[in-house]
Amino acid sequence: MTQTFANTPSPRYILLWDIDGTLISGGGAGERALEKTGQEFLHQHIPLHSIDYHGRTDRRISRMLFEHTGRQPTEDQVAAFASRYLEKLRHEITVSPEAHVKPGIRKILPLIDQHPKLAQGLLTGNLPEGARIKLEHFDLWAFFPFGAFADHAEERNELAPHALRLTRQHISPDFPPERLIVIGDTPHDITCGKHIRALTVAVATGHYSLRQLQEATPDAAFSNLEPISIFFDWLTQHTGTRIVS
Ligand SMILES: [Mg+2]
Repeated sequence: MTQTFANTPSPRYILLWDIDGTLISGGGAGERALEKTGQEFLHQHIPLHSIDYHGRTDRRISRMLFEHTGRQPTEDQVAAFASRYLEKLRHEITVSPEAHVKPGIRKILPLIDQHPKLAQGLLTGNLPEGARIKLEHFDLWAFFPFGAFADHAEERNELAPHALRLTRQHISPDFPPERLIVIGDTPHDITCGKHIRALTVAVATGHYSLRQLQEATPDAAFSNLEPISIFFDWLTQHTGTRIVS
């Protein structure tokens, strides 16, 4: 990952996308890979729904699985768990008939990519390699030259300051957090964006209803991003940047 924007070297606003439930659904591939890795490491089947995993980072989820069996994993165990999980994910995503791209995403990403004042990156609990595996499967990886991932932080709230640091390092040292737009499908994404005073957009294409997401008081909440004109109208209003779709 280059961590620069070839098309837009000094963007005015940066959209930071969550992956699962927001850009795509892996059709349960990530969950199956985590459960199978859990089975291998912990010698028991722990259904992911028995832990509160939505919106958590992959590193945090692996730790929660260990803790579920009363164990505290070492750093080495968390790292070993991650690499085995990635191997399994690589397979699971290819045998996941329900995997799909969320409404509007295939149209929105190229338009943001080409926009002279906007850029986009990832703000995700996935490990970088996990993000690549999932997004390459749908030919979407190339839209993201930039991202904050779960290898930098275990708690999602730590990911947003990391994204801001990266932006300041690579774009401009005084880039204002209000010009980052965090988009996600869980209250965790919204809290994480608010943590750095970013604009926040909730989209109810994951496991949370529109109403549950509204309770987290995002700057905007959508059922999904289709028709894309509704999302772009909001962007225009809040960024003063017109997007022709
Ligand atoms: Mg998500």
